[in-house]
Formats: sequence, structure tokens, C-alpha cells
Amino acid sequence: MFRLIGNPRIPGIFLLLATGAPALYGQTAPQTSPAAAPPAVAAPTHADILRGAYGPYRANNDLLYYHLDIRVDPEKKYISGKNTIRFKMLQNGTRIQLDLHSALNIDKILLDGKPLKYERDSGAVFVDFPETLGAGNTYSIDFFYSGTPLESGRFGSIAFKRDASGHPWINTACEELGASMWWPNKDQWRDEVENMEISVAIPNDLVDVSNGKFEGKTDLGDGYTRWDWRVQYPINNYDVSLNIGNYQHFSDSLGDLPLDFYALPEDLDKAKKQFAQAKGMLEAYQHYFGEYPFKKDGYKLIEVPYAGMEHQSAVTYGNHFANGYYERDWTGVGISLRFDFIIIHESGHEWFGNSVSAADRSDMWIHEGWTTYLESLYVEYMYGKADALKYTNGYKSKVKNQLPIIPQRGVNATPPQDQYFKGTLFINTLRSVVNDDDKWWKLIHDFYQHFKYQNIMTEDVVQFFNQQTGMNLASIFDQYLRHAAIPTLELKFADAAGTVAYRWKVDEPAFAMPIKVGTPDHWEIIQPTTEWKTMKTPLKKEDFQVATDLYYVNVNKL
Ligand SMILES: [Zn+2]
Repeated sequence: MFRLIGNPRIPGIFLLLATGAPALYGQTAPQTSPAAAPPAVAAPTHADILRGAYGPYRANNDLLYYHLDIRVDPEKKYISGKNTIRFKMLQNGTRIQLDLHSALNIDKILLDGKPLKYERDSGAVFVDFPETLGAGNTYSIDFFYSGTPLESGRFGSIAFKRDASGHPWINTACEELGASMWWPNKDQWRDEVENMEISVAIPNDLVDVSNGKFEGKTDLGDGYTRWDWRVQYPINNYDVSLNIGNYQHFSDSLGDLPLDFYALPEDLDKAKKQFAQAKGMLEAYQHYFGEYPFKKDGYKLIEVPYAGMEHQSAVTYGNHFANGYYERDWTGVGISLRFDFIIIHESGHEWFGNSVSAADRSDMWIHEGWTTYLESLYVEYMYGKADALKYTNGYKSKVKNQLPIIPQRGVNATPPQDQYFKGTLFINTLRSVVNDDDKWWKLIHDFYQHFKYQNIMTEDVVQFFNQQTGMNLASIFDQYLRHAAIPTLELKFADAAGTVAYRWKVDEPAFAMPIKVGTPDHWEIIQPTTEWKTMKTPLKKEDFQVATDLYYVNVNKL
């Protein structure tokens, strides 16, 4: 997903965010605290805890399969149908927790055709079984529901719109508020089904594009046609997507990977031109990380009336068929306009977000920090390392450093926007710490391959990076992800003696990070800690530089 503060469709707000010159950290920047007090973080509500915690009635079972089988009435803005949920019990129990927004009715929940009792609390649905479900056994329930879902959140969660020619145009984008805004499921991040089916009945003249492989359509004889899709990989709930409209389809392939594209008739020519960028994107990411993760399901790109979203194997696109982000130079350094930001960013999530997923919303930087870094890898693949570095450093202007990237765990907390921009600058810093591109390419390739199709936490990332590099990077991860401030390198010059003293000013007491100092044509790596050390230097205070485009740090010359 890509989120901004404010609505990018309001040009004034967008301009403020998009056109600021990159802030120049480093050589002469004084060490400062943020001028404004950090924004207050609201205490989690009862509903946040129900949604965010992996409580006992979630932890007692493991999802295996969904079949979401629904009818969508565009005129009434009404959904009805069922989700068949198959799960394995991990412990004996008589209750499980599912989720469905309170705007939607539960018609019945059946086990072997017999109705089950349930209790609703906020968005949670606690389902009670008359007899104990045994650990190790597999069960399947049919959860019938209906109603008019609430259109809420930046992209509406589910939005019933019309295109310019008056056809219904219905799209889901629900990462922010959760998939249970429009269908019943176990709405958390840790546990994913292994595969699923999506069946969507809609009026005959419309098309539904959902996730996975298109299995076929069936005329139901009552003015509705059912579109069947099969997802052959684990999938996040919020990635499950409806795209219902007057779509035209065209296709291509990259080797044996099918590429399918969907656009409105009036945009078809523009789409054929712009969507050609998908191939270069796929080639770039396959170069760094390996095969496209959802090959059996194919890659799809679908026009929608909002910016875009990384729906698995069915990436949605609303970037005006133009380069940049809403036609702007997104990182403000003259590189963004060479490519379509939404195709490059949202598709990058197929590797980080959809294949490698965070197990809790608090660790969403694994999706957004990494995918923002993938943008710079695309730039490096297409245009070289210098442009990639410039592109990455363009993001400095957007970083706030007011709150830690990782918020409270288990309460459905959304990380601050720094997870994107500071996230990529941090990953670029790690590359400089490793200081060997061959090792770095192997490291990030193996990182992806090791964790693909899994749900992980930051601790897993740190452990993997430590093991593979033989370094102790924990304090570096912690400083960048668990504190608001970035490290400041303090330098104390004694020009007469020809020395400079240096240390890190940080929150993490054990922080130790190498950094390049001196001059760009002759960098020297020093190993500062939080204790003062001294080195000889022929450089005067004003000539002594720090490689702040390679490491995201402040420098304070005392
Ligand atoms: Zn994103």
C-alpha cells in the first residue's frame, strides 16, 4: 500500500509533501531535537485489542483454506453469501475468534449443516462449538453473512462507484481497516490460509477480477454470472480483492509467467503503453530476489479509481497512466519521472508484503521499508548505483523522526509514515555497514528466499542478518526502528594537534556502527561507539566530511 498524510488528490497538500527539496543531513547540520513535541499515541481501545491481539481463540487454531462465495448487487450496494473456513485445531477448544464488521449481518454459522452459537463484540465474532474440537483435527465451517458494508478509510475498504460512462465500478482496498470490513475471516496478520477460492456473482455485463488464477465463469441464469478464481499460495486477508467493472482484458507473458491486464475501454490504449513497464519491473526484482512469488497465479495489473494497492497477484493501479506519482517527481531529485511509481512500488510488495509478510501490523516496515527499498533497486537495475543512491536520499525530505517505526505490538497499531522513507534509508545504511556489494546482493536474496511465504517479525530479520553477516547488528536495527531519533556522529576537532574525537550520540547504549569519514575520494572507515575515541587527521574541521548519503545519520561538529 502507499499512504500519505492528506489526500494526494488535493493538489495543495500533495505539493507540500511531494516537492520539498531533500533535506541535507550531515556536514554542518546541528544536533537538534525535533522542534515540535512528538504526536501523541492514543491508548489502544477494546476494539483495537480484539483486532490486534493474537488471543487464545485465535492461537488455538491454524487457518488452512477459505472459499469466499458471494453475490454483489451493485445497485443496492449489497453483499450476501458465505465464507467456508477450514482450520486445524492446535489445542483442544470449544471457541474460536473470527471477525466481521458490525455493519454486516451474520445469517448463520454452520458446522456439518448444524447452526453454531456465536457472540459478537465490536468487530470480533466468537464462535462456540457444542463439543470440544480436538487438537490436530481439521474442521470446516460455513459463515453466512449479508448486508451493506460500511465504506470507510482512505480507499473506502470497499467502494461502490461508477465509471465515467456510468457502469458500476466496485473495488476493495482494506489493509487499513481490515478485510472484515466486507467479509468474515480471521482478521489478523500472523495466520494465513494455504490457498483459497473466490467466487463472485455479479450482473452479467460486468467483469470481476480477483486474486489468483481465473478458473472460469458460469451464467447463473438469473441475470448474474459467477466468476471463479483460485489462489494457490498463502494470502493475507487484506490482499483478497474484488475489482468489479466494465473491464477490458489484454495479456502478455514474461517467459512462462502469464501477465494479464485490465482497464476500462476508454483507457485501454493508455494502459497498453503504460503497463508495458511491468516487464522491466519483474525482471529487476527477479534479478535481485529470484522468481516472481506467485507464478501459478500469474501477475495481474488492474485499473482502479484510487492510487493503488498490492493485492496479491492482482495489483491495482490508479496512477493516471503517467510516470512519477500522480505525475509528480516523487522524491524530488529528477529520477521518479522515469517510471510509474505505482507499478514499481505496489508490485514490489509481491516479494515483501505478500510473500514475506509481517506477523503483526507493528512490524509493517518489513512490507513498506523493504518495498520502498525495492524502488531504489529498480532504479539501480535500470539506471545504475549513483542514481539509486540519489533516489534513496531524496526520501530524506519526507522523514519526520518523531516516533519509532515500530509501534506497540498486538494492538492493531499503524506504524508512522517513517516506515517507508526512513525504512529505505535504514536499509541503505545497512548496505553501507556490510560494505561489500557482492555480499549485500547475496544477503538480501537469501533473506527473501529464506522467509518467502512466511509471516515474520523484526526479531527474525535481525537474527538472519546477524547470522549471515557474522556481525552484531541488533543495536543498529533497534536504534533505527525502535527509537525516534537517528544516530548523531559527534566530532570534536583539535586542529592544532591534528586530531578529531568521535562518538555516537544515540539511545541504544551498545550502539556501534562503522562509518566512512574523510573525503569522498578517500573515505576511511572508523568504528565509533558511544565512548569517545580519537584519530589523527590532516583535514581541518571544515574539510572533514562524513558519507551521509551512504549512512542515514546526523553529524554534529563540536
Ligand atoms: Zn506499499
